[in-house]
Amino acid sequence: MSDLQDIVTIDGPSGVGKSTISRRTAAALGFTYLDTGAMYRAVAWFLESEQVDVTDETAVQKSLESLEIELLPAADEMSDVGVRVAGKDVSREIRMPEMSMAASRVSALNVVRKRLTAMQQEIGRRGKIVAEGRDTGTVVFPDAAYKFYLDADPGERARRRVAQLREKGEVQDEAEVLAMILERDKNDSERELAPLAVAADAVVIDTTKISINEVGRAILDSIRKKKG
Ligand code: C5P
Repeated sequence: MSDLQDIVTIDGPSGVGKSTISRRTAAALGFTYLDTGAMYRAVAWFLESEQVDVTDETAVQKSLESLEIELLPAADEMSDVGVRVAGKDVSREIRMPEMSMAASRVSALNVVRKRLTAMQQEIGRRGKIVAEGRDTGTVVFPDAAYKFYLDADPGERARRRVAQLREKGEVQDEAEVLAMILERDKNDSERELAPLAVAADAVVIDTTKISINEVGRAILDSIRKKKG
């Protein structure tokens, strides 16, 4: 790997504001934003569309041989990055709530993690990226110079997610969203491989009571201070 000095990792549980913060941080530094969750979502969509039995790891491995994922840049700072799978634009499909759970399920499979981790490391080889996910500071880029872990109270995360969906014109029940967040937290932190965990050298920021702007500022200040 080349310039790991230029890699920023931002990990944390679902709905903590990682995507917005990562996009802003990448824009402020002039780095590329790498949304690793979008890649797990793309794999979940692909396996579902191919009707692969995800409890059969050999079948999953075979199917992944023909997987082609292309990450599309976000339209603007407020939008999610897009994804093309085998030439088809599935940007909308992968953001459906059911794809969040499906991604969480397939992300526990060794064959899936190996494949995506290798792809992410290849993307990060040239440095200058802000990688966002669950294991970017612990497993994908353990030598990254700037690591952050965002956390927030689950109730607050559910409220934010509902508000975000409302802005897109989607109405979701807060209690249901909270239940899904808690289930994903459990899956993601209790799985055997690359579980959601705080890297020993990560700066932990609790975003429950602070605004997105304050979180963004804290991250940039920390990077600049460390850069010297
Ligand atoms: O971040 P996002 O909600 O898009 O991620 C979807 C799912 O993909 C997560 O719940 C998690 O199970 C999985 N994921 C992962 N490792 C990453 C990023 C996402 O296991 N680095």
